[in-house]
Amino acid sequence: METHAIDIYLDHAAATPVDARVLAAMLPYFTERFDNPSAPYARGRAAKQALEDARGRLARAIGAKPANVTLTAGATEANNLAFGCVDGPVAVSAIEHESIMAIVEAREHATIPVEPDGMVTPAAVQGALTPRTELVSIALANGEIGTVQPLRAISDVVRAERRRRLDAGEETPLYLHTDATQAAGLLHVDVSSTGADLVTLSAAKIYGPKQVGLLWARDGIALRPLVLGGGQEHGLRGGTENVAGAVGFACALELAIGERVEECKRLSALRDTMQRTLVERFPDAVVSGPRKEARRLPHLLHISFPGLEARRLVIALDRRGVSVGTGSACAASKMRTSRTLQAIGLDRSIADGSLRITLGRPTTEEQVRDAVDIIGDVVAAEYARVAAQHDWSEDRGNHHG
Ligand code: PMP
Repeated sequence: METHAIDIYLDHAAATPVDARVLAAMLPYFTERFDNPSAPYARGRAAKQALEDARGRLARAIGAKPANVTLTAGATEANNLAFGCVDGPVAVSAIEHESIMAIVEAREHATIPVEPDGMVTPAAVQGALTPRTELVSIALANGEIGTVQPLRAISDVVRAERRRRLDAGEETPLYLHTDATQAAGLLHVDVSSTGADLVTLSAAKIYGPKQVGLLWARDGIALRPLVLGGGQEHGLRGGTENVAGAVGFACALELAIGERVEECKRLSALRDTMQRTLVERFPDAVVSGPRKEARRLPHLLHISFPGLEARRLVIALDRRGVSVGTGSACAASKMRTSRTLQAIGLDRSIADGSLRITLGRPTTEEQVRDAVDIIGDVVAAEYARVAAQHDWSEDRGNHHG
């Protein structure tokens, strides 16, 4: 790895470091407690017990029953498992994560439009429903611009349609799924208060291990096996269970919940300082996402510098030791205008100059101060370069004209 004198990581929506306490809880399951939970001797039974204890802790943390929690290799897999509960048409918001968009591309689907601040209104969900829709999927919080969705009100719309079908004697099922990956640890996630029938969570964004996640499904929802194998996870996902991962996930979720209120206060104060300072220095900068604090993820700043190219900014910042994202990591790696920014109607010339800055547990006040200075310098230098290029081409233009 390249080393910088400065190393400021501001991309916690893409990945979080494993918390030292989580790592300590996991370590014994890599070494002396390595056993296969299916093994027929005491050591195996202990591993099974550790797995089920972790499932129980995860369930308790989200107000669920352990039997309704399926452990998966991350949120992508949990989302795939969720969509297997029905075969019919689905409806998803225009700003869902790539893992959802990729699933629905192969199926009959409706895309639910969003407001300019990324909000999915209950009316928009209502407008997308047809008597044949079987699944609605809306992320609890968007990882790119930070919009927290009014999921409870959306679930009222879904429930009303379900009641209508029941009264009309129609048998088409209708479920609500929410990908709460970006919300966990920052918002209160209790499965019943979300109003959803299926909930996806990931350990990787809450200072737990990667490739560890879960799907919660309400009683009575029949899921289709995702990975065939030895019948683990109620036959839904075969393969020797990741006991260390499950233990780490449970530990990470409990820590995140315990520290959530204080940590969110700290993060939003730092984020607000960053936003204020950058907008003061660059009054043309555009901040996306909801204005209301309660509707916005507290650690996230999506800021666009009109006329600049995000890719150049990220490279320049990287050289100075500051790691930030452009849009979501997935969209960024493909270097195309983010679907989310198109969906909120952000002009291309603004969208192309967007940075997604996400603070996290290790972020300090000093880092934020340094990062603001460095971002300011880099943006100012880019504006100067663009202006010089513009002058140069105008000169040439005049010359030729
Ligand atoms: N859903 C959302 C909202 C995400 O942000 C991510 C990770 N970027 C995923 C799903 C995929 O998670 P995983 O990498 O655990 O499969």
